[in-house]
Amino acid sequence: MRPTSGRLPACATVTPAGVRITLAQAMGTCFGVQDAIDLALQPEWRGRLTVVGQLVHNPQVTERLRANGVMIVERDQISTIATEAVMITAHGASDTTKRYLSDHGFTVLDATCPLVIRLHKLARFLETKGYFTVVIGEENHVEVRGVVGNLARAAVVHDESDFHRLVGETRIGVVSQTTNRLEKVLTLVDAIRALDGVREVRFIDTICQPVKERQQAIHTLLSQDIDLGIVIGGLNSANTRKLKDLIADRGIQAHHIENAAGIDRGWFTGKRHIGITAGTSTPQDVIEAVYDEVKRVVG
Ligand code: SF4
Repeated sequence: MRPTSGRLPACATVTPAGVRITLAQAMGTCFGVQDAIDLALQPEWRGRLTVVGQLVHNPQVTERLRANGVMIVERDQISTIATEAVMITAHGASDTTKRYLSDHGFTVLDATCPLVIRLHKLARFLETKGYFTVVIGEENHVEVRGVVGNLARAAVVHDESDFHRLVGETRIGVVSQTTNRLEKVLTLVDAIRALDGVREVRFIDTICQPVKERQQAIHTLLSQDIDLGIVIGGLNSANTRKLKDLIADRGIQAHHIENAAGIDRGWFTGKRHIGITAGTSTPQDVIEAVYDEVKRVVG
């Protein structure tokens, strides 16, 4: 299975009680996450591989990896690694981190997603062209830390409260964490352009295509008048949170759950149309289990 768009056989169903359930046209595990999982599960690495940080922001997948002999440690526990091989996750890492691992004798399996590599390259390109580089994203997110770690000078901007980091900069190059919402990023780029003293802003859109497809699929769900959104993904998954916000920001009731056990039957009272979607690290079987449970609960 290589779920780049996570389609289920039927995209919409109407239950015997007359409640419509519609699945987003694009959702679930993206190719970058799937490739990283496949690499970690190769039989030759069983019991010989440690993943530094979460390979995916999804506890079910993490448990599956552990059950298949993959060790997982946090970034501040690198000194405890006892396997010969170490994996860089799809979110990537700075060159310094990769060098540190190889200098310490580990075989480094690099599962950095090609779209994260593109982000790294474009951020560095802006820097070589003399721009002060701004990464729009979450400062502590591993992807953002990896990008910034490869730049000589950069600032992370999450919202306008971070603009003090740009004081004195006149030529600014902007990239984005791959999982951001395009509308939010464009709004921030416009606000940066309007800052006193800024002469030039060059923005390169680095939001990844699978994320855009998942966001677009939510707009489609919203255009179909859903009155409840269920968004499936790890509670620590940034892209899943953003998908939920897309629905909630339109005033539609939305719930972020990790799996079918998170469903509360009280949510469905009086609802006529339920939309279901999932973040980029949510496996197909978890989506299917939620879909089945929602059907069962609404009757
Ligand atoms: S969300 Fe996008 S950038 Fe991140 S791993 Fe998936 S495809 Fe790659």
